[in-house]
Amino acid sequence: MDSLLTDNELGFKKDVRDFVKKELVPHVDEWESRNEYAREAVGKFADYGLFGILVPAEYGGLGGTTMEFLIASIEIARASVSLASIFGAPTGIFTDAVLKYGTEEQRRRYIPPAISGETIVCFAITEPAAGSDAANMSTTATKDGDEWVINGAKTFITAGDVGDIVLVFATVDRSLKAKGITAFFVEKGTPGFTAGKAEDLLGLHASSAAELFFKDCRVPSSALLGEAGKGLRIALGSLDLGRLHCAGQAIGLADAALEATLTYTADREQFGRPIGNFQGVRWMLADMSVQLDAARLLAYRAARMADAGKRYSTEAAKAKLFAAEMAADLARKAVQLHGGYGCTKDMAVERYYRDAKLIEIYEGTNEIHREVIARSLRS
Ligand SMILES: Cc1cc2nc3c(=O)[nH]c(=O)nc-3n(C[C@H](O)[C@H](O)[C@H](O)COP(=O)(O)OP(=O)(O)OC[C@H]3O[C@@H](n4cnc5c(N)ncnc54)[C@H](O)[C@@H]3O)c2cc1C
Repeated sequence: MDSLLTDNELGFKKDVRDFVKKELVPHVDEWESRNEYAREAVGKFADYGLFGILVPAEYGGLGGTTMEFLIASIEIARASVSLASIFGAPTGIFTDAVLKYGTEEQRRRYIPPAISGETIVCFAITEPAAGSDAANMSTTATKDGDEWVINGAKTFITAGDVGDIVLVFATVDRSLKAKGITAFFVEKGTPGFTAGKAEDLLGLHASSAAELFFKDCRVPSSALLGEAGKGLRIALGSLDLGRLHCAGQAIGLADAALEATLTYTADREQFGRPIGNFQGVRWMLADMSVQLDAARLLAYRAARMADAGKRYSTEAAKAKLFAAEMAADLARKAVQLHGGYGCTKDMAVERYYRDAKLIEIYEGTNEIHREVIARSLRS
């Protein structure tokens, strides 16, 4: 699969892999065991410049490509999907939205601190009663003179409990449905804005997802991103990148699961020989390798299309859907081939199995992705 990458991309991949091995891998077990957002990782990503992969040099970034973003997502997820999720918002969806739709002042205010790790940023769409049906959100923003007054709640917001800046989506008129949705920056410390405690999740134990509350929370007009009523377009546009990032998380996790399983099945002996020599096991390993390659191809295609300036919403949805299901299945097989030991916390495959399930849910469930893809077949 490396033959599909250029020499520069291969060099970048090696650099990121070395960084992950040196700076993240030694801490992963401790960070995952704490079951809270691993702030330490933010400094490491920032110091290495990784948050700025997609940011032009004039805002302090590396001016890199979507393929490099995907490669980094995969390499980080090989160590931990939690850490890949910490890497995602400042590098992907948040920054992408600000770069595409922000004023020059907003870009200068929010991007440099996000990629230097000075601020932790969040992207808040989901509500307690509006998940897949995001357009049906009930958080409102009402204009009052030169200010907007936000009321409502968001849920499952990555880094919500520790975030400094939230890009929050609210409706300026519920009767307009999708056409009322508008995006606002809300900064920590703004009166009326509070964060709840992080959820106790099945997986992603070195990241966090929390509720956010807005009660008569006033923000200035300058906090509006893009135009009033155009928020859904902003959200969906940036979610293409988010979905590609999720595909990368799934591919990295599955790659690590396959590697661990190859090692284990070569070492573990039953009936007088390594279990990896039994045909039933060898065929499972072969299937896992094919599944992984197929997911990688779909993700590479979407990244190449993005870098060519083409629309890649459907391709990103296909990559996310296939990779998420692939990772869940592959992690299940990895645990199976580790037997009883695979069900213990001593084995990384136990974590892969839990984390893989979450990728099938966030940034659009498998079912919603099937809907998105099905709609594209008719257009
Ligand atoms: C770890 C984690 C991190 C997250 N981070 C963020 C974040 O940073 N920002 C943010 O805004 N959100 C975030 N989310 C929320 C996530 O995007 C939502 O959980 C997801 O979109 C699903 O919404 P829901 O949980 O309300 O499920 P629901 O929408 O209630 O869905 C429940 C089930 O019904 C199915 N379903 C719903 N509608 C249909 C349909 N039309 N056809 C078929 N099946 C359907 C779904 O596929 C699912 O299986 C995060 C979630 C998690 C778990």
